Amino acid sequence: MYDVIVIGAGYAGLTATRDLLRAGKTVLLLEARDRVGGRVFTQTFEDGSYVDLGGAWVGPTQDRLYALAKEYSVETFKTYDAGKSTQYFRGKVKRYKGLIPPLPIGALLSLDMAIKKMNKLSKTVNLEAPWLTPNAVQWDSMTLAEWMQKQMSFTTARQFFKVAAEAIWAADPSEISMLHALFYTKSGKDLDMLMNVKGGAQEERMVGGMQTVANRMVETFKDNLRLNSPVKRIEHTAERVTVSGEDFSFEAKHVVVAVPPPVINNISFQPALPSSRTQLTQQMFMGAVWKTYAIYDRPFWRDENLNGLAATPDGHITVTFDNSPKDGSKGILMGFVLGNQAKSFAELSPAQRQDQALGAFATFYGEKALQPLRYLDYTWTPEEWTGGCYAGVLPKGVWTSVGKWLREPIGNIHWAGTETSDVWNGYIEGAVRSGERVAGEILGK
Ligand SMILES: Cc1cc2nc3c(=O)[nH]c(=O)nc-3n(C[C@H](O)[C@H](O)[C@H](O)COP(=O)(O)OP(=O)(O)OC[C@H]3O[C@@H](n4cnc5c(N)ncnc54)[C@H](O)[C@@H]3O)c2cc1C
Repeated sequence: MYDVIVIGAGYAGLTATRDLLRAGKTVLLLEARDRVGGRVFTQTFEDGSYVDLGGAWVGPTQDRLYALAKEYSVETFKTYDAGKSTQYFRGKVKRYKGLIPPLPIGALLSLDMAIKKMNKLSKTVNLEAPWLTPNAVQWDSMTLAEWMQKQMSFTTARQFFKVAAEAIWAADPSEISMLHALFYTKSGKDLDMLMNVKGGAQEERMVGGMQTVANRMVETFKDNLRLNSPVKRIEHTAERVTVSGEDFSFEAKHVVVAVPPPVINNISFQPALPSSRTQLTQQMFMGAVWKTYAIYDRPFWRDENLNGLAATPDGHITVTFDNSPKDGSKGILMGFVLGNQAKSFAELSPAQRQDQALGAFATFYGEKALQPLRYLDYTWTPEEWTGGCYAGVLPKGVWTSVGKWLREPIGNIHWAGTETSDVWNGYIEGAVRSGERVAGEILGK
């Protein structure tokens, strides 16, 4: 009989396990996959170059993740952003410096006002209990798209706001509750923090890739980890939990479920969970995103004083970043396909996807982009143990009806994972914080 069984070896589960072990508890960490890291997955190639197929960036105020990087001696480095950004709109490529995109003045003002308004509204959100926010029901009865329609009269402003919103949530604004959008914005501070490279959530990356920290963390408690162990059933009584899968069954005093909320529905609970809790995980959905990567022998766009950042409301690839390694020994462009574009991208053949991605890179950065050493793309929607990315999103009406169940323990069942965090919800930082919070909950802190 363990003190605690933790389900899921993403950053949340790893952090919870580490903290509970340090407090002297006996812990078993069960992971469905054959690796740790969950939504953080670094693919490394024969020549040592690597790409992060999931979570990649870390930025200011993500203190818990920085502390882990320091503790496990993983170096961080700045995302390349020197030079001009690129905008592609109505068939024209424009280059610009700084944060202000070259839009007609009316659209620009409208966009700027919307960002400021959203930041201001987000300040009213009760982070610990979003359903208690003033006017919570009003905000939760409206989608982000409906708010955008009311707030911005210029189509162009709405188009570019949508590009930013999709890059933040990996979902279409018409799918997201406005209350959730406000909550998420405040949870990371404001929209500027969520959107920006310098001074924002995309400021830095980890040398060797974001999974390095997870791999090093687990080295210290390998014996407590069981990989290839998908949990299928949790039986719970007042005294104990029995956690079982196809070829195992273990008992503990507490269980921590640190898997994405919609994926919890793969687990059978005996007795069944309260109806509201089940409703919550039935209604939350995972975002949709593809990362497309082209690897070149060098970051050739830098020769033209371009920083590899592009934004466009047209086509599948709407945002790009320079994801080259710290020393620039390879040139790596990463293009996001987000929200509804991610859904239609999934219907293309691999060759069509490659054509689309390289075609977009060539539009932004020139013909050289058509000749990479390697192209690859990846999406998390078909992944049984994740179901999509970046994170679980709440559509209209969910926060105010059943949202309070998100991290409320049920007997000796405790909930962790980035979706349960009130700070940096949806990010790795949120996952780490949720692991710390749940360990404290069990330790009675
Ligand atoms: C494409 C993409 C880009 C992203 N970019 C960033 C970024 O740049 N910066 C950032 O901070 N965040 C980013 N994120 C989000 C970030 O990766 C996640 O918020 C974070 O990794 C979530 O950690 P977690 O521990 O909560 O959940 P997860 O990492 O999902 O961990 C859950 C674990 O549970 C396991 N599991 C599921 N079901 C079972 C079961 N039945 N039995 C046993 N195990 C199970 C899974 O295999 C997984 O290992 C991105 C995500 C994606 C996918």
